[in-house]
Formats: sequence, C-alpha cells, structure tokens
Amino acid sequence: MSSLLAPGASLERLYTGTVWAEGPVWLPGLRALRWSDIPNNRIMQYHADDGGTVVYREDVEFTNGRTLDLGGAVVQCSHGRRAVEREADGNVTVLVDRWQGKRLNSPNDVGVAADGSVWFTDPPYGIISNREGRIADPEYGGCYVFRLDERRGELTAMITDMVEPNGLAFSPDERILYVSDTGVLRDSSAPRHIRAYDVIDGSCVNSRIFAEITVGVSDGFRVDEEARVWTSSGDGVRVFTPDGEQLLHVPVPEKVANVCFGGPDGQDLYIAASTSLYRIRTTTRNAPRPAPDAATPDVRPA
Ligand code: MG
Repeated sequence: MSSLLAPGASLERLYTGTVWAEGPVWLPGLRALRWSDIPNNRIMQYHADDGGTVVYREDVEFTNGRTLDLGGAVVQCSHGRRAVEREADGNVTVLVDRWQGKRLNSPNDVGVAADGSVWFTDPPYGIISNREGRIADPEYGGCYVFRLDERRGELTAMITDMVEPNGLAFSPDERILYVSDTGVLRDSSAPRHIRAYDVIDGSCVNSRIFAEITVGVSDGFRVDEEARVWTSSGDGVRVFTPDGEQLLHVPVPEKVANVCFGGPDGQDLYIAASTSLYRIRTTTRNAPRPAPDAATPDVRPA
C-alpha cells in the first residue's frame, strides 16, 4: 500500500443519496463535512462524531465549491446567484457577482489565499442548463479565473487563457496556482488537464500543463503539505507529485467530483463522488496557508 495512505486504510462510504456531490469542506468547529448536492439545490452535512448526515439547507441557489476564509467562515460559489458568497452564522452575503458591470457566468470553485484574497473559477456549467442552475446568457464573453480583493472592492481577471477553468488550489508557498480545465465536458477536443501558473508580482504567468487527466476530468482538488496534488477523476482520486508525476490512484466506484482533507487531525480525505460521500485515511493533510505578507495585507472588513 502507498505510504500516502494510513496502514490498513480502506475506502468508507459514509452516505449515499445525492445526485451530484461537489464542494466539500471540513468545518473544524462542528467536526463536520459540508458539501453540495447541486441538482437537488441543497447543502448536506456529515457529522463525524455520530456518523449522521443531515440536509443542512435547501433552496440554496445551487451552491458548488466552498472553502474557509481567514476567519473560518464558509466562502462558496453559487450557480443560481452567479456569485461568490460568504455564509456566516447562517447569513449569506454576496461578495461579488459582476466583473466590469457584467454578470459572472457561474462561479464553480474557490480558494482563499494567505492575504485574504478570494480566487475563483467561472466556467458556464450553471447557466447552460437548468440542472445545476438556470439557463442564462454569458455576459462578459469568456471563462476566467478571478481574484477578489475585498478590502479594495476590486475584482481582477487573473487567468484568461483557459477554456473552462474548474478546480483550483495553491501550492503550499502560494507561488504556484493550479487550475483544472474541464472544457472536454462540452467539446471532446478541448482540454482535460490541470494547468500550473507561477504567481509573480500579482500576476499569473508561465502557463503550462501540469498533468493530463486520462479518465474523466479533474473537477476539483486539494494540495497537501508536501505539495502533492490530490485530484478527482472519472474513476477515483489521483495524486500527483509537484512535478506532475502520478503517485497514486485510489479507486472509487463512482465518478469523483472533488475532495478535501478533514477530520480531527486533518488526515482524513473526504471524497464527493456523484451519489455518495466517501472517506479514506491518509498520512498527510492539507497544506497550511503560509504566513501573510505583512506588506500587502488584504484583511476583510470586520
Ligand atoms: Mg468543480
């Protein structure tokens, strides 16, 4: 067995009953895993202490990917609102839904950098059918990766060379941004890979292919403390070295959309896969955020 998995680790199925599971995040205070069931327009929550799963919220405007901000609040994408929003104490606040006066497509996945900036992808999957959102016209004419500086109220298009950007995550030092392109979902000649970008002086440069996904797509992924990329694919979870070499394939009996680390010590990998939530024990954990650069603080307003 791979040294990336705990001795004797096996895949556990924790819950079955979603249509399309996405957007997992571990909530340390609740010892719970929250995730989206996008077509059912609801948010689910698995509680690790008793093993129970509840419907956390319904009629949620088709939430998708989510993460925690520097204060521990949930930041998530909404296909229905065509927005990125924050949920704190049960209240949802839209952080951004327009760029240069035009509506976003349907934000898909999101990360928060050490400076508090909110980075997200904006493919069209929430506006091309009523299954995961509502049919609507794209407005700005692209599918970009954006960076929101909340303090300045500035939304910047950081990456504009992808077909349909989807999952994203930083390397542990935040000098590399990984973004998957799932354009192949709508055009068989389009990409099914993860790209890497160097983040230098506030720009994403040196765009390159990091890893090709051979089965299905990389819908979402996380980076561990040793800079390895743990990504979804059509037949399980695949782990890549920082050089893009595949280290491990964890077979999962359903199409996997996204993953996240969680559990009391952060070493459980939660896997959102179609109708089910799975878990497997690893020997690593999510990369911690680097210390923020004191010269360029971007702390959100209280
Ligand atoms: Mg996604």
